[in-house]
Amino acid sequence: MNLDSIYQDLGISSQVLEFGKKIEKELKERFDRIDETAEYNQMKVLKAMQDARVSDIHFAATTGYGYNDLGRDVLEDVYARAFHAESALVRPQLVSGTHALHIALSGNLRPGDELLSPVGKPYDTLEEVIGIRDSAGSLKEYGVTYRQVDLLPDGSFDYEGIARALGERTRLVTIQRSKGYDTRPTLSVDQIGQLISFIKKLRPDVICMVDNCYGEFVERTEPTDVGADMMVGSLIKNPGGGLAPVGGYIVGRKDCIDRASFRLTAPGLGKEVGASLGLNQQMFQGFFLAPSVVAGALKSAIFAANIYENLGFSVVPDKNQSRHDIIQAVTFGSPEGVIAFCRGIQAAAPVDSFVVPEPWDMPGYDAPVIMAAGAFVQGSSIELSADGPIKEPYAVYFQGGLTWWHGKAGVLKSLQSLVEAGIVRL
Ligand SMILES: *Cc1c(COP(=O)(O)O)cnc(C)c1O
Repeated sequence: MNLDSIYQDLGISSQVLEFGKKIEKELKERFDRIDETAEYNQMKVLKAMQDARVSDIHFAATTGYGYNDLGRDVLEDVYARAFHAESALVRPQLVSGTHALHIALSGNLRPGDELLSPVGKPYDTLEEVIGIRDSAGSLKEYGVTYRQVDLLPDGSFDYEGIARALGERTRLVTIQRSKGYDTRPTLSVDQIGQLISFIKKLRPDVICMVDNCYGEFVERTEPTDVGADMMVGSLIKNPGGGLAPVGGYIVGRKDCIDRASFRLTAPGLGKEVGASLGLNQQMFQGFFLAPSVVAGALKSAIFAANIYENLGFSVVPDKNQSRHDIIQAVTFGSPEGVIAFCRGIQAAAPVDSFVVPEPWDMPGYDAPVIMAAGAFVQGSSIELSADGPIKEPYAVYFQGGLTWWHGKAGVLKSLQSLVEAGIVRL
């Protein structure tokens, strides 16, 4: 059987396939550059694993307190080496990205301290962590105040505003790399470095933390290479490589990581406890695969940007922009467009492909949200996934794909679904 007919078996028409092929041809050079970055990052991870002397005894399970969990300690050493940091906390007990960020913040802030975001509003779930939206147990309840300086209208840093906002009580600065579900541009590692240099010049003692979610391995360098004291992310996004079934990481300066560890477990216990429960092998192997998985996700995002921009939809980042995370936003301008796109992504999944997603009133959101996720790991967004709130401007956020070919199939299925709904004519 030839390639075209197997696509047809998957419900992708020859018209949609031909349109995709034309776009893919134009992307060859771009994809080559992504592969070069992946090659560089693969060697970086390989070297870290060799230098840390990873061995198969490190895949053994521990239980209970997890004293002397060699695998856990070596995994943390690998993360620290790969990201050029002094120390790391990489744990299944960090249950999500939000939890890892909460531990990093609450472990390093004390009553009377101020937290500053110089890049505008943080990710939705952090509003309750910080207390921007009142919540039991927030930093605000513990006497930590919060200040925010928005980006300027052109997306650049408001250096004057940041200098004014850095007060005597400012203890920690939080910098979010990815735009998340916002409309601002994602920050490059270079830009993050410039911001950190500016802050450190004024206040060398302030802790600079970067929310690195969705950014790992997109570039050759990471925020810890440009002065970040702490960098935080989720293992069911980029660095888990699709294999980590749960977890989060915090890497950075030893004193910062120690304080975070005393918050995660208990003062006095810190990194010494926490059983890895037999998950180490998946965590190591996922991290090993992550550079190439991220390359596939990036190609899929760029493919989607090019498909939908050529069809006249507005896309962020646009089809030629440089990439600093794996998220692609496409604005369809109608609920039907958002729904058709998400149904196409779901229909391309290896798991639950037969399910038809519907918009629903999710807790914490002010409009119904539709989600497409047919993932091996629940909620994993390094796997092919999409979601969109059913409200103006009717945009979807698309990310992931464990392989480029699966990401490509997902984008083609989304287009097929839009064609069948009569929203797109090829
Ligand atoms: C996903 C994400 C988070 C939160 O991670 P969860 O694992 O969903 O809790 C925080 N910040 C950014 C920028 C993210 O993309």
